[in-house]
Amino acid sequence: MRARTDRVVLNGDWDTRAYSERDMDAERCPGGLKRLSDMYAQILAEVGEDPQREGLVKTPERAAQAMQFMTQGYRQSVPELLGDAVYEEDADGIVIVRDVEFYSLCEHHLLPFFGKCHVGYLPDKRIIGLSKIPRLVDMFARRLQVQERLTQQIANALQDAIAPLGVAVVMEAAHMCMMVRGVEKQHSSTLSSCVLGAFRRDPATRKEFFDLVQPARSALV
Ligand SMILES: [Zn+2]
Repeated sequence: MRARTDRVVLNGDWDTRAYSERDMDAERCPGGLKRLSDMYAQILAEVGEDPQREGLVKTPERAAQAMQFMTQGYRQSVPELLGDAVYEEDADGIVIVRDVEFYSLCEHHLLPFFGKCHVGYLPDKRIIGLSKIPRLVDMFARRLQVQERLTQQIANALQDAIAPLGVAVVMEAAHMCMMVRGVEKQHSSTLSSCVLGAFRRDPATRKEFFDLVQPARSALV
């Protein structure tokens, strides 16, 4: 299992910066919501529905709001999210936040993929407020994603934010686009990992991380 997830990392060649630094319109303007609602009304008509029937009258606006929520990560940035929650500390040993649930949207089908994420780092005189790690996961998850890139963006953002000796991120997810369409596999899950610094160089450190997150595996997804 480890070899497989590592292979995902090593083969991954995603331009993470281009996405994580992209600055989307910070305004959640009513005009944008209206345009998105109109588009959803068109989709309803296109699939053969009557957008005016009672049950659907408010659906375009609700769908537009849901889409805005699920893509709110475009309107957030790492510095804004972390604020001043970085502390000088002579911490020693791996810090892990395990079982962070996340919900994202696959950029190929606009269908959800969701699961659990484990984030670990090896501090170098600096630690980060623990609650910021799930927030970091959410920020990148709430964009159109592929799981491989999402994993790397979380790891790179943490690396950039506190320059630890190493970062390790592993994600396990179920993809609706594989479950409800295409190959229709309901019980498969997709694992991805990204290991940086000491976790990449030192097999013992990497093993310690994977051993520590391993017990959670059975409860995933
Ligand atoms: Zn997909």
